[in-house]
Amino acid sequence: MSIRRFIINSGSVSDGHAVVDGEVYKHIARVLRMVAGDPVLLVDENGVTYCGTIELVTKKSVEIAISSMQAAAGGDGTSPRITICQALPKGDRIDLILQKCTELGAHDFQLFGGCRSIAKVRQDQLPGKLERWNRITAEAARQSGRNDVPLVTWCHTALDAAANADHQLRLTLWEDEREQSLKQVLSAQERPASVIVAIGPEGGFDPLEVRHFSQHGFQPVSLGSRILRTETASIAILAIMQYMWEAT
Ligand code: SAH
Repeated sequence: MSIRRFIINSGSVSDGHAVVDGEVYKHIARVLRMVAGDPVLLVDENGVTYCGTIELVTKKSVEIAISSMQAAAGGDGTSPRITICQALPKGDRIDLILQKCTELGAHDFQLFGGCRSIAKVRQDQLPGKLERWNRITAEAARQSGRNDVPLVTWCHTALDAAANADHQLRLTLWEDEREQSLKQVLSAQERPASVIVAIGPEGGFDPLEVRHFSQHGFQPVSLGSRILRTETASIAILAIMQYMWEAT
């Protein structure tokens, strides 16, 4: 299951903790019955994202320890918030993707286990892997002079990743797409406030995954007739979108 995301008021956060009550409390504690130790993502009205863990659930509020935060996309507010929704590739290819896409302006990464992903992540491995992946983006952000660090989160499947999307423009890079090109979609599009791009693993996307993404508003697009490696595709799409929409 992917990490749950909740909209909060920035006033709920102070000194590395958030105290949440009201409707969001009811959703967390009563509907989802979440408990201490569960990871959560909090997004405030300024677009700031907080990554944290539930510390205490009382009868009226939930207390959350904040482990990291990320400023809203685009210092000047016009560069789109770009999420790379990447199926986990084998080996250390993910390191290259996280590093290069951070340099190229990705706002955050939603990694998931693709049907055809060779690499698998056991639940007990997840905290260590998330820590390592977020260290890679932090180092790449520092090196490239960014003032925000892309957050890396995990979803177990493409279904979870697709359902999580709340972006204005949603794309699936599909090597078998023959109808729609990226150029057609982007040239018909004003600069979006947010974009999410789904990219398959080295084994590619299962057509069922593509269909599921489509059911959540993702448009399948082709990057041309050649088959790119997954790491090439993610770097290419970011470079193209940076060229098209980067304000600075
Ligand atoms: N199954 C393929 C490799 C997939 S490449 C093979 O024949 O070996 C991994 C991912 O990169 C794909 O799932 C897709 O998301 C992206 N990709 C690669 N080439 C692409 C293309 N020409 N158009 C769109 N996406 C592409």
